[in-house]
Amino acid sequence: MRRKIIAGNWKMNKTPSETVTLINELKPLVASEEADVVFCVPAISLTTALEAVKGTNIAIGAQNMYYEESGAYTGEIAPNMLTSIGVKYVIIGHSERREYFAETNETVNKKVIKAFEHGLIPIVCCGETLTQREQGITIDFVRQQIKIAFLNVTPDQAKIAVIAYEPIWAIGTGKVATTEQAEEVCKAIRECIAEIYDDATAAGVRIQYGGSVTAASAADLFSQANIDGGLVGGASLKADFGKIVNYK
Ligand code: PEP
Repeated sequence: MRRKIIAGNWKMNKTPSETVTLINELKPLVASEEADVVFCVPAISLTTALEAVKGTNIAIGAQNMYYEESGAYTGEIAPNMLTSIGVKYVIIGHSERREYFAETNETVNKKVIKAFEHGLIPIVCCGETLTQREQGITIDFVRQQIKIAFLNVTPDQAKIAVIAYEPIWAIGTGKVATTEQAEEVCKAIRECIAEIYDDATAAGVRIQYGGSVTAASAADLFSQANIDGGLVGGASLKADFGKIVNYK
């Protein structure tokens, strides 16, 4: 039985002091015995957030990292910088990074490999545009993203990965995929992992749905056989996130 994982993607929101305020507000609301809870905060607030969640069930994640160890990469953050302060998760290949910061399937793959090398758990994002969905190529497109993201990743690494299926047309738009649409793609992702590795590896991978998840849609989505929680943007900055974590 896979443990649910519900992660908040704070995106480019909240200063360090606002981070402390929001964490203090959310702390009692996101207490859960049944799900892993992760707050992915802006890089500048990672240290503050780690301090603020001490003694709680909340883990801290970064929203990005670079795939080199160190060197002349102005503005980038190395994986050991994250692990050295206690960051456990890192979002990789979010569609906003692919769209605005030129991330490709290949850079996603390099980052996934590097994250695992450093003991970070990557939350690997994939998902189609509205045009791709309308053209009927959603599954092919997502399978290709997954196959490239996991190139040269070992089965032992893959089974602890988190994959976030996030249809781009549902992110920040208020449009949620139907539970059938979300489950269909999450199932296809699991089958793709089984093809690359084997059934045991596929059974271990946790697959989240992301895209305008709210307290109202969480229960239906997260009760699907292949949906192991959610990656939540907008609603993770509000008290509603507590209801999403405790969706049952
Ligand atoms: C996201 O950015 O990962 C996301 C799912 O955003 P939202 O919940 O706001 O659609």
